[in-house]
Amino acid sequence: MIFNIVGINDQRILTALQRLLNAFNKSYKISALQYDYLITIIMIEYEKEIKVIIKAQGVTSENRDIITNDRFYDLKYLVLGCFYQLLVKVTGKRLSYGVLTGIRPTKLVHKYKKRYNDHEVWTILQKKYLVSSDKANLLINIVNHQSDLLGDISEYQNEVSIYINIPFCLSKCSYCSFTSYPYDNKSVTRNDYLNTLFKEIKYMGKYLSSVKIPITTIYVGGGTPTALSSIELKALLKIIDRYLLSDKVKEYTLECGRPDSLDDDKLEIIKRAKVSRISINPQTFKEATLQKVNRKHTISDIENIYFKARNYGLTNINMDLIIGLPGEQLTDFKHSIDATLLLNPESITIHYLAQKRGAQLYNADLDTEKSEYVAAFNYAYNRLTECNYNPYYLYRQKYIVGNLENIGYARKGYESVYNMLMIEEAQNIIGLGCGSSSKFINYDIILSPKNLLTYLESYQDYLNKKIKAIRNTLRK
Ligand code: SF4
Repeated sequence: MIFNIVGINDQRILTALQRLLNAFNKSYKISALQYDYLITIIMIEYEKEIKVIIKAQGVTSENRDIITNDRFYDLKYLVLGCFYQLLVKVTGKRLSYGVLTGIRPTKLVHKYKKRYNDHEVWTILQKKYLVSSDKANLLINIVNHQSDLLGDISEYQNEVSIYINIPFCLSKCSYCSFTSYPYDNKSVTRNDYLNTLFKEIKYMGKYLSSVKIPITTIYVGGGTPTALSSIELKALLKIIDRYLLSDKVKEYTLECGRPDSLDDDKLEIIKRAKVSRISINPQTFKEATLQKVNRKHTISDIENIYFKARNYGLTNINMDLIIGLPGEQLTDFKHSIDATLLLNPESITIHYLAQKRGAQLYNADLDTEKSEYVAAFNYAYNRLTECNYNPYYLYRQKYIVGNLENIGYARKGYESVYNMLMIEEAQNIIGLGCGSSSKFINYDIILSPKNLLTYLESYQDYLNKKIKAIRNTLRK
């Protein structure tokens, strides 16, 4: 469906309207050429109140609200709310997150929780943002849980967390849009890459210690960090130990991802390196799907490596699942959840497939609206909570199936501090390595080059920019 919108010229609001359209359907767009609906937006401003009327052929929607100090914000959500109601009438569909299309709805709840009680926040979520009552409850519960675990998250602003990117994988999964190169890449080898990454780690570590900024958590992700050889992995963990790790670090995660990237040697190295949390990600327990999405391992590989990791004394293991992989049905999702529970990891993260640009599946013709996704959410939520895994962080993605959310569930005491701080943007996250992103509390973002060669040539410029950005936040 194409919508021609007249009566509003502010590009920021038009962009928000486009995002809302995409949440209804990836193909809906705004255009003045050959449209299906002419949408007229009329705004009437009284002393302290704005009234918005939106009209399409034969359908009208209107909304009003008091203006606060942030006039633009109020106006934007008034228009979005009004447009949402109109889209509900036109499409017959409702979105459980209403007009919220951003990836961090819990961040909004943290903001309101500073001023309002749970019931008031619940009412605001439903009235202003048109979030369903169930999702409002979920968001508030997660934020309360985070506050119990971390206290006031603004307290973490004077510390940083470190993300280290290893952009190599054993094969490229068809749903993946991360920066990922073959582990035997020829133009820039793993060795070339690590030499530069080690310089970055060393430089950043020395800088942070010279200005006495503590590191809260370290997260080594990718790609697949354990796609490195055991010698390379050992060298990486040694550099981290020397320049970043200290008693103050609350959590040290190494994403192992694919079971075929691990062996006895690497598990021993990981255990010795004082890594406190690892992730082994089955994604699904359906053999045929693993092959279909180009993951070159089997279900028994997952189970074998999981038990081996236990034997090496790794006591905090996360497992990721993806709901909505091609060809899977509700029975498959349920089986994957049950099979993961049988393994009994400390935390389980349930993702819903997002058709991301850059992934092979981006243009695949998937039925993204199946009611099965909601049933899968309910099944996962009920099964995991009855087995004492509590939801502790949540984020959403563009073009996510069922318009749902990704949720991290964990047993008490195993909630990942990095995941919570990163999603809530509670502190500076310093990304090191090719394709890593550094995000700062003043909303600065520095994206390191995704291209390996460009990264090698320009890493020092990016390091300088990151250090400048850290200084800017310190001055506040
Ligand atoms: S292993 Fe992970 S990072 Fe690598 S291609 Fe698959 S999903 Fe992407």
